[in-house]
Amino acid sequence: MIAHVSQWVLPVSGPPIRDGAVVVKGDRIAAVGPAAEVLTGFTGLICEHGEGAILPGVVNCHVHLEFSALAGRVPPQERWEDWLEATLAAYGALSPGEIEAGIAQAIEALRQNGAVLVGEVTNTGASWPFLTAGPLAYHLFYECLGFDLLSTFDLPERFPWFGRPEVAGTAWISAAAHAPYSVSAALFRAVAAWNGARSGLQTVHLAESQAEIDFLARGKGFFEGLLQRRGRWVPDFPPPGVSPPAYLDRLEFLGPRTLTVHGTQLTAADCRLLAATQTWLVLCPRANRYTGAGTPPVPDLLKAGVNLALGTDSLAGNWDLNLFGEMLWLHENFPAWPGDLWLRLGTLNGALALRRAQEFGSLTPGKQAALGFIPLKGGQDFWGELFTAGAAGKWRWLG
Ligand SMILES: [Zn+2]
Repeated sequence: MIAHVSQWVLPVSGPPIRDGAVVVKGDRIAAVGPAAEVLTGFTGLICEHGEGAILPGVVNCHVHLEFSALAGRVPPQERWEDWLEATLAAYGALSPGEIEAGIAQAIEALRQNGAVLVGEVTNTGASWPFLTAGPLAYHLFYECLGFDLLSTFDLPERFPWFGRPEVAGTAWISAAAHAPYSVSAALFRAVAAWNGARSGLQTVHLAESQAEIDFLARGKGFFEGLLQRRGRWVPDFPPPGVSPPAYLDRLEFLGPRTLTVHGTQLTAADCRLLAATQTWLVLCPRANRYTGAGTPPVPDLLKAGVNLALGTDSLAGNWDLNLFGEMLWLHENFPAWPGDLWLRLGTLNGALALRRAQEFGSLTPGKQAALGFIPLKGGQDFWGELFTAGAAGKWRWLG
């Protein structure tokens, strides 16, 4: 048994504890509380960490590890459409060796910066062997695209990867729909059916760009051209004429096991729909800034009571995969909300979204001992200092 003692313990499941302690037994948390109480009669090893905070490992609900080799190759953009075109071109120029090296480096960087669990979106399955080798816990979303798949089908018929026995039998794998502008109604239904027979978890990029809003409203614009150039256009496509969340609600794709991602273009009514269906929204606010997508309507989302978690998206569209950067960005841009909210989004809410809260997301007895320490100097803005230090790579794993 080891007791980790520090000036602050942030359980996330409860308020911060000054002069706190976390007792670890094997790979589990045994006790959490004020050091004076927890250490009474304690006979194990005591590790004093001093000024700073002990906190749970973070949960990054949305990454694309396979784009990691694009780090620094796609500069930040003013227009999201320009970012997408640049990313598609740059990705096509990567070799398999570069992609694999990028995946390995990104997993290492995620771990160093406190990530314990990730929601990984793959287009090829290439990241899966790297994730199974550890050290991160993961949920793998294999992303399907197919705007021109119009007839009803079972997912493995069109995406044979799902028919492999080792895939179909793994609890941590789901099918994902890329986005409403790249996935047909039939493909949305096939994805939901495959997931429904398993964990039910699924994910989809949603309301990321104004081009997506325009396309669903009128069936015209940037995506018409893009789909034509990629040979996926459906000439008599009937635009649904509603917002992206309303369209997915019509397709019965929303719900408490669906993680929508980005939401930068959501209206207040859209936020209420996500809340009413208990759909998760994964915010990636620095990525939205990087790609030119805009800023998610955080006040409307919080007011509506939407289930929120955090992700970084990929190194094609963000400066790094350090989730403390997203927390810091939210703290600085929405200072009216308490800082502990952003830590909760990046830890416990992420674990809840990925259905792993029995193991991760808070310092709670019985959960995995996935905790770290961030040194602090005791400034005025506790949360700002915590997120700044985390974003600067000051995380240190304990145990
Ligand atoms: Zn993404």
